[in-house]
Amino acid sequence: MTPMTVLRTRAQLREFRASLPPHSRVGFVPTMGALHEGHLSLARQSLRDCDVTIVSIFVNPTQFAPHEDLSKYPRPLERDLELLKSAGVHAVFVPSVEEMYPKDASTFVVEEQVSGPLCGEFRPGHFRGVATVVTKLFNLVQPHRAYFGQKDAQQCAVLERVVRDLEIPVQLIRGETVRENDGLAMSSRNVYLSSEERKKAVKISESLSRVIDAYRLGERRVAELEKAGRDYLEADGSFRIQYLEVRDLETLQRAEMIPSGGAKLIVAIAAYLGTTRLIDNAVLN
Ligand code: AMP
Repeated sequence: MTPMTVLRTRAQLREFRASLPPHSRVGFVPTMGALHEGHLSLARQSLRDCDVTIVSIFVNPTQFAPHEDLSKYPRPLERDLELLKSAGVHAVFVPSVEEMYPKDASTFVVEEQVSGPLCGEFRPGHFRGVATVVTKLFNLVQPHRAYFGQKDAQQCAVLERVVRDLEIPVQLIRGETVRENDGLAMSSRNVYLSSEERKKAVKISESLSRVIDAYRLGERRVAELEKAGRDYLEADGSFRIQYLEVRDLETLQRAEMIPSGGAKLIVAIAAYLGTTRLIDNAVLN
């Protein structure tokens, strides 16, 4: 097995990057750790496509609002490092908060359109934190390709805008959502669910299937499609839906009716089950 280099400082990362043969293709997978098959599938994709794969593990405080789960976010670092080593990843960047942010950091990356709806409405500042840390990581790692999960469809759309608008020389790849056997999208936050909640959580992806079924049966009115998903989830009574909406995959814009032909659409959901906020989405057409 190739030895895996653990990099803790920006200086170590820069040195590692500079030591790579000049023509090596570098793939990068940013994560917050508590790794699961979703993360590992992105790492494997990078290992297939690129010569060198770098994964980062950083629970980024600037993307959490004060009332959110920053302090209780799971951090099983030793296990994460073992998983990445077994997968054959070349290097892992595990910086501290102090390493990533000068005390008086005052520059942020703000995307102003795609960040607005959906999670943007319920998590103000979240995408500013994501766009800022990912831009910093891109500058440090200088990858040719970076891999992000379609599970976080809005994050993908925001970062695609940032990369386009700021001319960041990296190719973004969207990896498919990896699911548990019953259909629940894998997430580091699934460990927050009680066993009873875990059984119910499958209804999130089932509600998306209801929307897709209605679409396949010919429904093209967006409000009716969304209602099919909402009605299903609300019938259970355990979920508090923040949004369940049909939107354009790239622009995240909304329409009254599904336009015929052309643009790809997703149906995206965020809902609380107990105190755990779950998100998921599926491509509609
Ligand atoms: P996170 O550690 O949650 O910030 O996620 C790191 C990366 O893994 C992001 O690009 C996520 O979209 C991606 N990811 C998280 N869950 C999944 C999943 N179930 N399937 C595919 N990718 C995922």
